[in-house]
Amino acid sequence: MPNSNLIEKTEKLVIIGSGPAGWTAAIYAARANLAPLVLAGDGLTRDRMPGGQLMFTTEVENFPGFEHGIDGQKMMAVMQQQAERFGTRVSNHFVTRVDFSVRPFKIWHINELSGDDEQLTEAHAVIISTGASANYLGLESERKFENNGVSACAVCDGALPRFRNAPLVVVGGGDSACEEATYLTKFASKVHLVHRRDELRASKIMAERTLKNPKLVPVWNSTVDEVLGTDADGVTGVRIKNLKTNQTHTIEARGMFAAIGHTPNTKFLNGQVQLNEKGYIVLPDGFRSMTSVEGVFAAGDVADSVYRQAITAAGMGCKAAIDAERHLAENGVH
Ligand code: NAP
Repeated sequence: MPNSNLIEKTEKLVIIGSGPAGWTAAIYAARANLAPLVLAGDGLTRDRMPGGQLMFTTEVENFPGFEHGIDGQKMMAVMQQQAERFGTRVSNHFVTRVDFSVRPFKIWHINELSGDDEQLTEAHAVIISTGASANYLGLESERKFENNGVSACAVCDGALPRFRNAPLVVVGGGDSACEEATYLTKFASKVHLVHRRDELRASKIMAERTLKNPKLVPVWNSTVDEVLGTDADGVTGVRIKNLKTNQTHTIEARGMFAAIGHTPNTKFLNGQVQLNEKGYIVLPDGFRSMTSVEGVFAAGDVADSVYRQAITAAGMGCKAAIDAERHLAENGVH
């Protein structure tokens, strides 16, 4: 039975989540002598992985400061070490629920992978940086070729050598799919945009621009039935199913990009922080990082459905730490 009532002490600042937003917040907070506790995730499932989405990307080539790029996992490890050097404490625990109606705030967390009991931590301030998880089609073959031709981020992976001058497939019909497909036409020989209906969901201007691109081939009323390939070569094609005729055919492709939306990791908040209609945390001030609950801040993809980059998440993490530090000082917590 979980021992939920064991409170060791009240933390000044707890940071939930350990992607670039969380680690940057930790670096700033630790250097401000707040000795933050990062609840990094327990790794039980993909969306509970310490390090977040970057743990599933290969080379990060667009984060300034790394002239020759850096491996996503390495980047997260280095950010963690930098945060720890200044006194950040890290627990590989996943947050199951919170109570933000009381002061100090209450946070319950667990490591189900190692079998740790649920614990309760109290905190005077909280930064939420739990990110968002890219939606995938859910095919077994898709999972098999992840990082070997299957990706959910064209900006992260599109420029990799395996995708250059090769035919590619993008799945989806929203703004992301259009953006990703257009971006990929810079590298690919051809981009097949596979959409389950005969009309794009994307904004009109984006849809028109995308469909005018000479390298883009729309594949309407269709879904991906199976990702094809070998262990040695990765993705070599996708089997497409036409939803109107039920007929299948194969498209040759070196890569498949899923662009069917993201799901922000906000379930554990159970409605205690204002979310928008898509489940992202709302920052009422827009510019600052305070959420609808005073003393609770948010940073990174969990509060950003638009930019979703490591560098923008890191910038938001910096803002959240500075805002949290000011909030704590104003409330006499040093
Ligand atoms: P989205 O608008 O929710 O579109 C998701 C697309 O994926 C839809 O076309 C949907 O098909 C399709 N889809 C969903 N589940 C699927 C499945 N299981 N199999 C096949 N297809 C599936 O998501 P988004 O494109 O990521 O955009 C999210 C938000 O960010 C939107 O508000 C968007 O406007 C915004 N955004 C803006 C920009 C920009 O302005 N530059 C860029 C990117 C995103 P249906 O159409 O049939 O539902």
